[in-house]
Amino acid sequence: MSKPIVKVALAIPGSNYFDYLLPDHLGSVLKPGMRVSVPFGNKKRLGMVMALTEESSCPLSRLKAIDRIIDDSVLLRPKDLKLLEWVSAYYQRGIGETVMASLPGRLRDGKQSAPDRTEPVWQLSQSGRTVDDASLARTPAQMRMIKILREQPAGMAQKQLLQLSVTSRATLAALLKKEWIEPAVAATNASRADNEVQLNAEQQTAVDSVNGTQGFAAWLLYGVTGSGKTEVYIRLIRQALARQAQVLLLAPEIGLTPQLYQRLQKALNAKIVLMHSGLSDGDRHCAWQQARDGQADVLIGTRSCIFTPMPRVGLIIVDEEHDLSYKQQDGIRYSARDLALLRGREADCAVLLGSATPALESLHNVACGRFKLLQLKQRAATAQIPRIETLDISNSSLNEGLSPQLLQAMQQVLQRGEQVLLFHNRRGYAPVLSCKSCDWIMHCEHCDARMTWHKHSQRMWCHHCGTQKRQPHQCPECGASGLQYIGQGTQRIEEFLRQRFAQYALVRIDQDSTRRRGALQAVLQEIKQGKYSLLLGTQMLAKGHHFPNVTLVVIPDMDQALFGADFRATERMAQLLIQVAGRAGRAAKAGRVLIQTRHPDHPLLQQLTREGYSAFAEQALAERKLLQLPPYSHQVLLRSEAAKAEQASEFLKQARECFAATDAISLWGPLPAPMEKRAGRYRYQLILQSTERAELHNRVSAWRQQLYRLASGKRLRWSIDVDPMEMY
Ligand code: ADP
Ligand code: ZN
Ligand code: ZN
Repeated sequence: MSKPIVKVALAIPGSNYFDYLLPDHLGSVLKPGMRVSVPFGNKKRLGMVMALTEESSCPLSRLKAIDRIIDDSVLLRPKDLKLLEWVSAYYQRGIGETVMASLPGRLRDGKQSAPDRTEPVWQLSQSGRTVDDASLARTPAQMRMIKILREQPAGMAQKQLLQLSVTSRATLAALLKKEWIEPAVAATNASRADNEVQLNAEQQTAVDSVNGTQGFAAWLLYGVTGSGKTEVYIRLIRQALARQAQVLLLAPEIGLTPQLYQRLQKALNAKIVLMHSGLSDGDRHCAWQQARDGQADVLIGTRSCIFTPMPRVGLIIVDEEHDLSYKQQDGIRYSARDLALLRGREADCAVLLGSATPALESLHNVACGRFKLLQLKQRAATAQIPRIETLDISNSSLNEGLSPQLLQAMQQVLQRGEQVLLFHNRRGYAPVLSCKSCDWIMHCEHCDARMTWHKHSQRMWCHHCGTQKRQPHQCPECGASGLQYIGQGTQRIEEFLRQRFAQYALVRIDQDSTRRRGALQAVLQEIKQGKYSLLLGTQMLAKGHHFPNVTLVVIPDMDQALFGADFRATERMAQLLIQVAGRAGRAAKAGRVLIQTRHPDHPLLQQLTREGYSAFAEQALAERKLLQLPPYSHQVLLRSEAAKAEQASEFLKQARECFAATDAISLWGPLPAPMEKRAGRYRYQLILQSTERAELHNRVSAWRQQLYRLASGKRLRWSIDVDPMEMY
């Protein structure tokens, strides 16, 4: 019997499925998982067929017919649709919005097959292998390319090669002309394991444990920074590939994907595909298609890759699983880490979460027996865990925030020819412009935030909404001309260090210095080649990178983080500190970490520096338990924002009134967000918390339908955040 009703997901906010009739002539070809064009209002819209059924809750006479089928074969398989349905229900977002957001832009726009991006793979030729560095000295771009290819005996795809070496096609053409490079021969089955490191006992145990378990299992690979987690990933991936499985490897940031690609490409005989938001639409579509069709063996990418269909997926790895960037902060507010577990369960395969500073949630999951723990307590090879020391600066006279002791320690390391990394999580030149006479401070007119002075562009900038202003020369409040820049951003510290350590090359890495595409990759390569002695930067520098020659990490200011408002503030601070510290002494030379503080006795600092992350985590979890905060309870946040504060809070008040109260769920709010006004809009939130997750979610889902009907909600923006990670 035919099923004439088509359930279609359309990206209409708050909507469920829309029913359409299936015209006879399309009857036999249409299947769930195909895109269709349907009439909606007086327009045509793109939708995804979710199911075919016999019944509709609407009278048949009122249903319109499908206009056109876009795909000639199924785009999303039943498993993929099921995942999206789950995401839509769990994260309280319409199915259509969920499905559409999961697709690459080109598919959302109704485009057909991916553009053909078959690319040559290049390797060094016989003569290219013997070129010496001296003869390349005058062509640095060619040198970079050759150096990369030396490390890649099986060659590298053109796009990745250009990206990693930060060169153009002209460089490639030049090398071709000299006959130093040639197209790589098709991948042979030769093992790439020739000069591979021997795993240490802890690594081997980790690999054996995962391999010894069949079907779904969640593993937390808790390994100190530099303990060789990536090496463990590589072995596991190789074995998954041997079973003909596909592997999904998630990284928290685009900036980390090239180095992972490079390591995997060197170690594996496989088709490795990169996918992240830095790619063009066409490239992203192409990567998606290759994963979807099973041609890609390994997919490396950021958060949104978690939605990419992979028919043979047999291993999912989430690197730096504690990282906040796995949680999407707008649209569908999903956690890619949590979805990785769901996908692993669906695909009945292992999921490996790796971190040196696991999220408290994950440690709690270990304690509850949901995750199995694998530990790497030693740094791989000969590297030592760095010592972390605090420097009490309550009585020091500071120079641009840096104490004499700190500068002296830096000097010593620089003199030895080693690298120093200075971490400072504040970009710009000075975070405050104020009046000497009346204490006026320049605020952003659209946000509850101060404006930051950017010396290079000669502008005051708001880092929250992007507003730029010329700096005033007189106080608008009292007319005095004595305005001063207070505090240090990375640019100011850079200026000072360039004078103080003039003979040493310095590089600053933050959002401002790396805006240009490929700029970050270029400096990262330069750092590895030892071009700089002083590395200065924000958390862009703190994550995951491997700088073998850094032996001293200095942190001039972390005190602010000790007193954060959010209950997760201490967890963040602890993770950041251990991660930054982890950049020190990653190779043969021992490392040291110096933190300046005015609160050397602060219990958090004491505990972290003396006992380490595990002790901190244990205590933090005990506190959370006492207060019944996540992970010992579950939260849902209803956020609203409007041009007027009353509007935003009024909606939440009404929302609260129509919530079916129960003792099992606590409600707080409406409360102003920690930054109440941002980009000209007032933001409020209502917090729901319960120890009963199912109960909470069931009630929220019924409640959401009511919220769509509240008149006050139609005039403003609101959203539901399930398992919120940030109050903001
Ligand atoms: P993580 O991912 O935990 O930060 P990596 O896998 O990047 O650590 O390893 C850090 C460094 O140690 C790398 O240079 C890696 O090649 C090296 N390494 C890893 N495992 C071993 C080992 N068993 N023996 C020698 N060197 C190793
Ligand atoms: Zn003034
Ligand atoms: Zn602003």
